[in-house]
Amino acid sequence: MQDGFQRKITYLRVSLTDLCNLRCRYCMPECGVEKFDHDRVLRFEEVEEIVRMAVELGVRKVRLTGGEPLVRRGLPALCAALNAIPGLEELTLTTNAVLLEEQAQALKDAGVRRVNISLDTLNPDKFRDMTRGGDLDRVLRGIAAARAVGMTPIKLNTVLIGGFNDDEIPALVELTRDRDLEVRFIELMPLGPGAAFPPSAFLPCTTVLERVPELREIGSSGVARLYRLPDGRGKVGLITPVSHDFCAECDRLRLTSDGKLKPCLHSDREIPLRGLHGEALRQTFLQAVALKPERHEELEPGRVSAGGRPMNRIGG
Ligand code: SAM
Ligand code: SF4
Repeated sequence: MQDGFQRKITYLRVSLTDLCNLRCRYCMPECGVEKFDHDRVLRFEEVEEIVRMAVELGVRKVRLTGGEPLVRRGLPALCAALNAIPGLEELTLTTNAVLLEEQAQALKDAGVRRVNISLDTLNPDKFRDMTRGGDLDRVLRGIAAARAVGMTPIKLNTVLIGGFNDDEIPALVELTRDRDLEVRFIELMPLGPGAAFPPSAFLPCTTVLERVPELREIGSSGVARLYRLPDGRGKVGLITPVSHDFCAECDRLRLTSDGKLKPCLHSDREIPLRGLHGEALRQTFLQAVALKPERHEELEPGRVSAGGRPMNRIGG
């Protein structure tokens, strides 16, 4: 699939649920989300049918996300079914790792070779506060389980939040010195509850280079610019959705858990796929790709994303 601006669309992010077992302050309202009527969430057979069509049309990489994907019962069976789709080259997921200790082996066996794990702080009290009640130790056990079953290299996603975790930049980078880990700092986006954070919370990723000047650039991977400590085994990634948008290289579509295709994260345009099959599904996919805007509006301070949904309802 190619959009109207000669960008090849090869990546689909699939949100399996809006629900989550954490309540990160920048992502979820404190009350959580209204429990969706069961019928509003795509059944796994529907997800499989949509992914199959996406792959037929040229998607090569699928990331399962949410909400928290691991709260969907039977996830390994879905992963095995998706992994068997001819032409799909990479199946990954993004998780908070709370349930990963129990599920890592089953997911690996189902063909999930790598996971991205969100971890914003190494301090248990700060973790409990930012996630409104989460247990850091459980997440660390989840990370250890993923490593133990060989889901490597593990990527840790850290949303950089001024006044919350910028003091931990050196400690987080240090994790990459003797471990085959990639720690990826991501700029906080003015989306959902994150939009209400004070201006001082929005730090550019260049802050990481100021705090750890010995980092050396080694290239890029997808939307991340990659760095390494001079004697580091792992890598540090900087992802800059706010200070530098990725629109020119954007290769992705998002599928929400209620079956809408979002051509752009920062646009409220959504194309419903539910109930479509065969040629109708194919044509609607192509229409969604044709609707991909050339770029989204600048997300400079004070601006709120036009994405229309908080991150837990889009699939980050
Ligand atoms: N629950 C899973 C997790 O936390 O990894 C997957 C879904 S979560 C919505 C995906 C990613 O979006 C997480 O890494 C989270 O930190 C990030 N995220 C959520 N809200 C964000 C915001 N306002 N700005 C930047 N990243 C955000
Ligand atoms: Fe849940 Fe992930 Fe959002 Fe945190 S960032 S509330 S873990 S969906």
